[in-house]
Formats: sequence, structure tokens, C-alpha cells
Amino acid sequence: MEIKITKTKQPKVKPDKSNLGFGRFFTDHMFIMDYSPDKGWFNPRIEPYQPFQMDPATIVLHYGQAVFEGLKAFKTSDSKIQLFRPFENFKRMNNSSARLCIPQFDEKLVMEGLKKLIEIDEQWIPEDDGTALYIRPTVIGTDPFLGVRASDTYRFYIILSPVGAYYSAGFNPIKIAVEAEYVRAVKGGVGDAKTIGNYAASLLAGSNAAKDGYNQVLWLDGIEKKYIEEVGAMNIFFKIKNEIVTPELSGSILPGVTRNSVIYLLKQWGLDISERKISIDEIKAAYQAGELEEVFGTGTAAVISPVGVIKYENQDMIINNEKVGPLTDKLYQAIMDIQYGRTQAPSQWIEPVG
Ligand SMILES: *Cc1c(COP(=O)(O)O)cnc(C)c1O
Repeated sequence: MEIKITKTKQPKVKPDKSNLGFGRFFTDHMFIMDYSPDKGWFNPRIEPYQPFQMDPATIVLHYGQAVFEGLKAFKTSDSKIQLFRPFENFKRMNNSSARLCIPQFDEKLVMEGLKKLIEIDEQWIPEDDGTALYIRPTVIGTDPFLGVRASDTYRFYIILSPVGAYYSAGFNPIKIAVEAEYVRAVKGGVGDAKTIGNYAASLLAGSNAAKDGYNQVLWLDGIEKKYIEEVGAMNIFFKIKNEIVTPELSGSILPGVTRNSVIYLLKQWGLDISERKISIDEIKAAYQAGELEEVFGTGTAAVISPVGVIKYENQDMIINNEKVGPLTDKLYQAIMDIQYGRTQAPSQWIEPVG
């Protein structure tokens, strides 16, 4: 299928690259395609970035039938552009879509559209270390209809946002609080799909934690509220003596690309990494025994997020004196080096653009 390109006649003024933050600025163009039952996905195109018009009854606005992704493009020191494991994101997006009754899309076509879009908006990619072009593919159900059923029509789109260094104030540990009342997801639900309602459902717990001075919520499983699941919208890892543990993918955990990359690297380095159930009580016991050495979250936005404090039962567990641990730091550097093209990436991790 041919991707039709319409360029903007009014390019925007680009933001100050030293003050980008996250998700505040959007480039000049976007990729769009539409779906109808008779045509399938049709009319893939690149257009000027602009608002959508939507009927107020549009299904996505009422019942949340939508999935999204988050990935990044990086500018290397020799001015090449590269994507980090993008096919993993598109594969996951189709998995999320299947759970939400959204039709599958052609991952190769979307990749072609994304690359063209990035090339057109190349001038928007920031170059400083730690900065990137954040990519947000989304699919929404578009029928104007209030009955509860899957939409017949859909829109797929990709927007791009130049983002600043996540740790502009330094690579510093965050404080997290174990959430005892609310849960993020349950097995059989949609916790392993990147679907919009999960984030709305997490807001209250997040805002309560923020009021108490904690940056993120540590989610426990939805049934026994005993086993650790994720931290905010990141996966989580614990180093307990020589074992590194991350919760196994149980059906309610989002299978992170960064999580998968960290597990791969740890195995390559010959370290003891297990994906298994881990209870908050095991963490507490390890802490009390002085064996909880490092804790970190993983996700595309921050890559690695060191954790310095975990609040549980009204007590703060202080990890590694609230300093970034050596393994956390090594992983962060290793992934950044791969993303910015400073070291050889494992095969198929890097997709060049242009
Ligand atoms: C996106 C996301 C992650 C991290 O996934 P990455 O592919 O590493 O960015 C983890 N948990 C939740 C709930 C997420 O939405």
C-alpha cells in the first residue's frame, strides 16, 4: 500500500531544545490510517499535525476502546537516526489490540510509515545525550455509537514528541509507596495490554502517593495483595544478595520491552536473574536482613529508574542509602550506549531510519 504524503505549509516554531520536558511538544506531521470492515486498513498517509474532529458519541470517548505504545528514536553521535526494538512495540500493540477487539494491523506497513514520518520531521529530533524523539502510536475505536460493543471503524495514528533528558536533575533514586488499597490489574483483566483505561484507573493511587511525597505506587497483585507487580507504569527489579528478581509475567503485568532488554543483558553478564513471584513480605524480610541491595524500575520513558525508598506499612525501607547502586547504574549506561549507538547492540535491537 502506498503511503500518501502531504507536507505542512506552516511549520511550527521549534521548542527550546534545552527545556523539552516530556510529552509537551509535537512535531509538524503525523501518520494516520483508517479501518472499515469492508476495506480493512486503508489510506495510510502522512499529514500535517492537527486536531481530529470527532462525533461526541465516538466509542473511544465513552468505553475506552483504544491501545497505545511508547518507543523512542535516537540521534547517534554521527547523526544517524535509530529506533530501539520497534518491532517489539508493534507486536505488543497487536497483542493489546487483540484483547480489545481491535483489528490487527500490518506491522511492516506501520514501520514504513513511522520511518517516513521520522525522516520528514528529522529536524525535530534533539541531539543531546539523554534526549530522544518519543513516538506514540495509538489506535482508537471511531464508530459514533453508544451501544457497548466493539467499534466497526478505527483510526491508527502516530505522533512524535521531542523529549528532554529524563534525569536532567541527575540520575537520582525515586521514592515509592506500596499501594495497600487499590489494585492496577487482575489476571483475566487488561493489565497486560497497553490500553488507555489502565492509566485512568491508576490515577487516584498515584495522586494519593504524591500527596504523601512519593513519586510512584508499588502495585501488588489484585487477588491476595501480596505479590509485587509493577511500579507506576514501569516494571520492577530487586537485587537481593546475588539474585536479581523481577515478577514473572502473570497475565496482569505489562510485558515491558525494557524489562525484556534488562533480563537479556543480565543473562549475558552471567548474573543470576529470575522471573518469579515475589511477595512484599519477602522484600521486607530481605530488607531487615540487610540483603535488599538495589531496586529499580524499567520503562521506555526513564529507561532505568533507581528506587531509594519503599514505603510499606507506614515505614520507609531505605535502599542503598538512597544512592544509585552499581548494577542499576551499569544497566542504565549499557542501555543508553546501545540506544545512542555507542556500543554494538544485540542483533535486531536497532532499526536504522533513513
Ligand atoms: C509501557 C509500560 C511499561 C514499560 O514498558 P516498556 O516497553 O519497557 O516501555 C511497564 N508497565 C506499564 C503498566 C506500562 O504501561
